Amino acid sequence: MIELRPHVKDSKSSYIREILNVTQRDEVISLAGGLPCPSLFPMQIIEEVMPSLAVDRSLFQYSSTAGYQPLLNELRIREQIPNTHQMLVTSGAQQGIDLCVRAFIGRGDKVVTEQPSYLGALQIFSFAQADILTVKNEKDGPNLPQLEKHFLNNKVKLFYAVPDFHNPTGCCWSLHKRKEVARLCQRHNVLLLEDAPYRNLRFSGEALPTVSSQCPEISIMLRSFSKVVAPAMRVGTLTAPKYWMLAITKLKQAADLHTNSPMQKLCLEIIRHPEFDAHVEKLNREYKHRYLALADELSFLPKSEYSFQSVEGGMFIWLKIPPCNTLSLAKSALSNGVAIVPGCEFYANSQNAKSALRLNFSNNEPHKIKQALNRLRPVLELYRTAN
Ligand code: PMP
Repeated sequence: MIELRPHVKDSKSSYIREILNVTQRDEVISLAGGLPCPSLFPMQIIEEVMPSLAVDRSLFQYSSTAGYQPLLNELRIREQIPNTHQMLVTSGAQQGIDLCVRAFIGRGDKVVTEQPSYLGALQIFSFAQADILTVKNEKDGPNLPQLEKHFLNNKVKLFYAVPDFHNPTGCCWSLHKRKEVARLCQRHNVLLLEDAPYRNLRFSGEALPTVSSQCPEISIMLRSFSKVVAPAMRVGTLTAPKYWMLAITKLKQAADLHTNSPMQKLCLEIIRHPEFDAHVEKLNREYKHRYLALADELSFLPKSEYSFQSVEGGMFIWLKIPPCNTLSLAKSALSNGVAIVPGCEFYANSQNAKSALRLNFSNNEPHKIKQALNRLRPVLELYRTAN
């Protein structure tokens, strides 16, 4: 038997993937996945622009690794990319994280993440055999003294951050923390990897500057169309200073030659469509509605024991609950017809996990969310009284 490498063979499997078959059953309401709502995909726009793909043979040929040039041109203008930087089209933000880790992180290198953190990124760090250090994710961003301590005491190479509508907590960093993190990365020569797939899913409050705009020479920015268009298109971008781009492009070439060109063209036609802005506004209006429905349902729980931070966008509420085995709670909830993700999934070391649940509000209409909470509340009560 040919042996797999131990860190690949023994990698942790994700709870969400494990329960996927069950959550797809009609009788289960899933607040588990980070799924955009399919009934809000811009199907009318897609139908209208799709024929423009069928008349362009060049789209179906092998193409440039950097991406479909008309899309890159359009995004450079929209995102006001400075001349010092270049953009590469990636297969979603996920590939952007992977390419950056391949480019900068070797076995034993130190990576800092907020705790809890996006499990897809934790998985990449773990496959790279990075040494993961954590800082607390507070209601306005990372704990700065902890971050500075790591930067001072450890030779940290990369800080992975989700400053806009963090997954899983929904937190949006304050302007102060954005500026301070940028200053700390500059002072200690740490690469900031800013992952911003939820940035345009804002339904209230004002957008704040990206952290990478505060330290452009030392940061890489990842954007994605998964949440505002559709995730199956697998179109995102990586923006970095020019001096790193040739090497990152070679890594992308080795990984998959280039991102699917017809999907890049489709993406361009969608964002150029006169109805696109209205689509994003509608999406955010609807998500706000769903968020308020979930927040309203959660307000029935005793406030002394259950708490959550209000959010201004994104897809998640992070519900803090009394201490219990959250994995076992999630399984009981599933037996009662509602899927949720136990907080321990989002910790590099689950022994550090606080008792919390990630609840998604984007994928179900308010009446379904209400029904889901009617199923979840008795399970919460059972675990509360059992402890
Ligand atoms: N980063 C974060 C924080 C995410 O939550 C996700 C997916 N849910 C991704 C990256 C991957 O997104 P994409 O579909 O653009 O690859």
